[in-house]
Amino acid sequence: MTNPLFDALMGPHQGSDRTFLILPDGATLSYDQIDRLSAQLANLLTAQGVKPGDRVAVQVEKSPEALALYLACARAGAVFLPLNTAYTPAEVAYFIGDAQPALVVCDPGREGQRQAFMGDSLATLMTLADNGDGSLMEAAKALPDDQTPVDRGPDDLAAILYTSGTTGRSKGAMLSHDNLLSNAQVLADYWRFDQDDVLLHALPIFHTHGLFVASNVILLAGGAMIWLPKFDAVQAMEFLPRATSMMGVPTFYTRLLDQPGFTRELAGHMRLFTSGSAPLLAETHRAFEDRTGQRILERYGMTETNMNTSNPYDGERRAGTVGFALPGVELRIMADGSEVSQGEIGTIEVRGRNVFQGYWQMPDKTAEELGPDGWFITGDLGQIDAGGYVTIVGRGKDLIITGGFNVYPKEVEEVIDDLPGVLESSVIGLPHPDFGEGVVAVIAREKGADLDADAIIAGLSDKLAKFKQPKRVIVVDELPRNTMGKVQKAALRSEHAGMFT
Ligand code: ATP
Ligand code: MG
Repeated sequence: MTNPLFDALMGPHQGSDRTFLILPDGATLSYDQIDRLSAQLANLLTAQGVKPGDRVAVQVEKSPEALALYLACARAGAVFLPLNTAYTPAEVAYFIGDAQPALVVCDPGREGQRQAFMGDSLATLMTLADNGDGSLMEAAKALPDDQTPVDRGPDDLAAILYTSGTTGRSKGAMLSHDNLLSNAQVLADYWRFDQDDVLLHALPIFHTHGLFVASNVILLAGGAMIWLPKFDAVQAMEFLPRATSMMGVPTFYTRLLDQPGFTRELAGHMRLFTSGSAPLLAETHRAFEDRTGQRILERYGMTETNMNTSNPYDGERRAGTVGFALPGVELRIMADGSEVSQGEIGTIEVRGRNVFQGYWQMPDKTAEELGPDGWFITGDLGQIDAGGYVTIVGRGKDLIITGGFNVYPKEVEEVIDDLPGVLESSVIGLPHPDFGEGVVAVIAREKGADLDADAIIAGLSDKLAKFKQPKRVIVVDELPRNTMGKVQKAALRSEHAGMFT
C-alpha cells in the first residue's frame, strides 16, 4: 500500500517527539502529535463519508489543526481544497458550486452565513476556529489516533488550489501527489533544508507558498516551523533569533526594513531568506543586503506549477532576477510559436513533474495553456540573460500596446521608482480612443513627499521613449495589494477605465 505524498511527508516521523511547530505563546507540537491529530482527522473524514478523490473545502484561519487537516486529506485520499480567508460568503459559494466538495470546513464565525455560501450544496459543514474549537475537532478527538493511509498513485489528486485571481476569475489547479512531492523534494535539496532548520512561517496556508513550498519542504526535511498567524514585523523580529530561515513575499521584507530595530545583529545568523509570489524590487534586495549582510534568494512559481526557478543557494543571487530553472524543470521563452534568441522577451513556458494536471472543470482553458507535449504556458513574460538568469518582465495580460508599440510596464516602473519622492509605482494601459491603450502610472509617494504629476511626466522625458511615457499620473498613498503582496493591476484598470474615453 502506498500513498506517495503522505508516506514521504510523514512516514519518517512516525512516533518522533522532535518539535514540528512552535506557536506564538511558546507552546510546541511534536511530529508525533501532528501525526496523531492528522490520523484522527483522517478517521473523521472517512466517518463523514468522504471518499478517495472527494474534495474537502476549507476556509479557516491558520492553526496547527488546519495543517493537520491537509495531512488528513492526504492520508484519507481526499483532495484538499483551501480557500482564501478573505473570500466573502458569495465568493465561497462560487468555489463550492464549482468544486462540489463532500465536506466543507469553515470558521465558527461563518456558520451563521451557511445559506449564503453553501447554497444548495449537500456537503456536510463542520467548523474549526484558530484555537482548535469547533465541531471538527470535537468529533475528531473521539476517534482513534492511528490510521492506515489510503492507497494512492502518483497521479492521483492531492489538492485543488485556486489561483489568486490576479488576472481574472480564480481557476482550480489540480495538483497530484507527484506534482507536490517532486517539487518539495527538489526545493528541500536545492535550498539545503535539514532537520536543524527552524522556519519562520508567517505566510497564509491557503496559498501554494505557505502550504506547499514552506510546509512540505519542512516536513520532508524534518525541521520545525515557528507558526505565526500572520505577518507582523514586530512579532517576526521577536521570533527571528530562534529561526534559521524565513520564506516571505516582498512586502514582508519592505516592512522589516521599515523597522529601525531590524538590524544585522538580529538577522545576521539566518541561513536563508527567500522571496516570491510577487516581484521583489532590486532596490529592496540591495537595501536588505546593506542592512543585514544577507542576500535574499528570489524564486518564481505559481499555483499551477509550484516552483519553477530559483536563484542559486551558493552562487550569485542576482537582484531583480528569479535565477535558473530548478532541477527537473524545463523552461523556455517563446514568441510567435518559436523560442526567442537569448536576451529577447517572450512568454515563459515550463515543463516537468511539477506541472499540474489541468484546471478543474475547465477543459478548454486547460487545452489552451497546457499542451499535449507537457509544456505549460505560464502567461508571464520573461527573458534570459547571458548568464542564464531568468527575469520576469511582467504578465502577458499587463503588457500595454499603445499606438502599435509594446510597452513593458516594468521598464517604465523602474524608471519612475528612481524619481525622488516615489515609493513605488504601477504602470497600466487604459482604453484610449487614438492609441488603443494609453500608458498611465499610478504612483505611491514616500511618506510626506509632495509629488506633482506634471513634474513627474517632465522628469521622464529624457529617460524613456515618448510612447513609453505615461500620459497621465495618479498619485496615491499606497498601491492596492492582496494578501500575497500582489499589486492588483486589474482593479486599477477597472477603477480608472474611463480616463481617456
Ligand atoms: P491568476 O492566475 O488567478 O490571475 P495569480 O497568477 O496571481 O492569479 P498565483 O498562482 O498565486 O496566482 O501567482 C503566480 C504568479 O505570481 C506568477 O504567474 C507570476 O506572475 C507571479 N510571481 C510569482 N513569483 C514571482 C516572482 N518572484 N517575481 C515576479 N512575479 C512572480
Ligand atoms: Mg496565474
